Amino acid sequence: MKYNVDKDGMYGRFGGAYIPEMLYPNIEKLGQVYLEIIESEEFQKEYKMLLKDYVGRPSPLYKAKRLSEKYNTNIYLKREDLNHTGAHKINNTVGQILIAKAMGKTRIIAETGAGQHGVATATACALMDLKCIVYMGDTDIKRQAPNVARMKMLGAEVIPAMSGNKTLKDATNEALRDWIANPEDTFYLIGSVVGPHPYPDMVTRLQAIISEEIKEQVMEKTGRDYPDYLIACVGGGSNAAGTYYHFLDDERVGLIAVEASGMGVDSGETAATIAIGDEGIIHGSKTFLMQTDDGQIVEPYSISAGLDYPGIGPLHAHLKDTGRAEFLSATDKEALDAAMELTRTEGIIPALESAHALAALKMKTFKPEDVVVVTLSGRGDKDMETYMQYFMPHPILPKGEG
Ligand SMILES: *Cc1c(COP(=O)(O)O)cnc(C)c1O
Repeated sequence: MKYNVDKDGMYGRFGGAYIPEMLYPNIEKLGQVYLEIIESEEFQKEYKMLLKDYVGRPSPLYKAKRLSEKYNTNIYLKREDLNHTGAHKINNTVGQILIAKAMGKTRIIAETGAGQHGVATATACALMDLKCIVYMGDTDIKRQAPNVARMKMLGAEVIPAMSGNKTLKDATNEALRDWIANPEDTFYLIGSVVGPHPYPDMVTRLQAIISEEIKEQVMEKTGRDYPDYLIACVGGGSNAAGTYYHFLDDERVGLIAVEASGMGVDSGETAATIAIGDEGIIHGSKTFLMQTDDGQIVEPYSISAGLDYPGIGPLHAHLKDTGRAEFLSATDKEALDAAMELTRTEGIIPALESAHALAALKMKTFKPEDVVVVTLSGRGDKDMETYMQYFMPHPILPKGEG
C-alpha cells in the first residue's frame, strides 16, 4: 500500500487539483518547481539554518515522567510548543517563504481563521522583507484582536472578508480572487496540508522535520528508531502529517489522529470531519468534508480555533480510507480536562488544539513497554482566556469586596 502522494497529486482517490481554470498557470508552475527547489542545496542550507537558529529546532522530545506513571506506559512529548511563535506553523511558513523567494515572488498572500497562520506568515514575511497581505473574515477579526495586532505590528496588511459568514471560508475566497488577479508577483501561502496539489505535499514535506527529529530522538532515548504510537491533533492535518511522514510505511508504528468533536460528534456543533463528513471537494482538493445534503459546507465548531476547519487534508482522508491511521475525536470538555491534566502533572500549559491529542491517552490502553509520542503542536498562552473561563469562572474575591 502506498500512503504518500503520487505523481498526479493523488493520495489514493483523494487530493488532486480541482480549481478554476484561471488558476491553472499558477498551480502548474508551482507543481513544476516545488520539489526541485526543496531538494536544492541552497534551499536546504537556508531552511535548516533558519529552523535551527530562528525557530529554535530541534524541538525537544521530552519524556513526561509523571504522565507516563499515570498511564502506566512511556509517554514522550514532541515539543513544537517551544518553537518561535509558539507552534509548529512556523516550520511551514519559513519554508514556503524560501520557495516564494526562489520563484522570484515579491508579494505574499494568505488567509487565516483564528489568526495563527496569519501571524506565522507575517513573521516569515518580516524576516524576509516581503510584502504580506492576510485575508481574514470580518467576524474573525473582531474575535481575534490580539492576533490581528500581532500581524499589523509585523507589517502585514489585514484585509477583512465581508461576504458569507465572514469567517475562514470567505477569507479563502478573497485570497483566491487576489491570486487570480495577481499571478505574476504573488505567492499564495497555505497554512495546512490542504488545498490543491502541490500544497498538501509541499506543506507535509516542510513539516516532515518533526518526524525526522522524532526518529533520531526516539533512537537516542530508547535504543530503537521507531515509537509504537504517534498521536497528533488534526485540524487541516499539518502537524499530524509532519509527525507521521517518516513512519508512514513503517507498519510497526500506530498512527493516531484526533479530531475536535466540539459539543459531541452528533451535536451539530462539531469539527470532526472524518467522523461525520463525506466525500467532496473543498479548497480545490477531493477529500472528506462536512456538508449538507445539497452540498453546502457546514460551519464547523470547536472550542479550539485551530481545529475549527470543515475539511481535512487528502493524506488523512487516504489514511482513514486505507485504515493506516486510527481516527479518534475529543470533545471540548475532554480537551479542557486533558489540558489541565498536563498542566498539573508536567507544568506545561498546552494549546487547546494540542490538548485534543492528549485527550487520546484516556481513550486507548497502552502496554507498559510501549513508546508513545504525542506531538504538542503549540503552547497555551493564546488560550488563557478560554482556560480561565472554564476553570476559574468565579474568582474568589478577597474578603470585603464584591
Ligand atoms: C493551527 C494549529 C493546529 C491545527 O492545524 P494542523 O494543520 O491540523 O496541524 C494545531 N495546533 C496548533 C497549536 C495550531 O496552531
